[in-house]
Amino acid sequence: MVTVEAVLGDITTQCVDAIVNAADSALMGGGGVDGAIHAAAGPALLEDCRRVRATTHPKGLPVGEAVATGAGNLPARWVIHTVGPNRHRGQDDPALLASCFTRSLAVARDLGARCVAFPAVSAGVYGWDAAEVAAVATDALRADLAEHDGVDLVRFVLFSEPTLAAFQSALSAAGPLL
Ligand code: ADP
Repeated sequence: MVTVEAVLGDITTQCVDAIVNAADSALMGGGGVDGAIHAAAGPALLEDCRRVRATTHPKGLPVGEAVATGAGNLPARWVIHTVGPNRHRGQDDPALLASCFTRSLAVARDLGARCVAFPAVSAGVYGWDAAEVAAVATDALRADLAEHDGVDLVRFVLFSEPTLAAFQSALSAAGPLL
């Protein structure tokens, strides 16, 4: 039985196995949730990201992909970085956004992370409507969690009341499977 929930809060304080970062392709930190995660994690996170760039992803992390690092000073054990599609650059394919959620869960399973917190990937600077992100995320999770074991808790951690409301409504529309 998997628990999927939506809460109002700051993802950097979550006591889960892994938190997902809405990163950009360069993985060098930035604004929004990415900046908050790097600020709270401290310099060890940037070091880990530099190592990813120097080894597996010299050209950066592609949109829709996910990669894990340590979590520095955060209560979580890992940060899973994913790059959402940027609507302002014409990246409006929901499959790319769905991939952020499913690839992040696949990385979590590989790590053995059973409790995973997600922000509203692409719903900030990257310009997607929160309701659309919520619907895409919920659909992606429904299919993914039905097919694969390994994750017990998915928590969406939302930073504003309207975003929380969008996720709550998408989750209740999704019905009992979640
Ligand atoms: P993107 O570039 O993918 O749109 P942003 O960081 O700009 O990413 O925004 C994604 C979402 O994360 C937005 O809804 C934003 O309000 C939210 N957010 C910002 N800081 C935090 C935080 N500390 N915890 C959780 N969510 C956050």
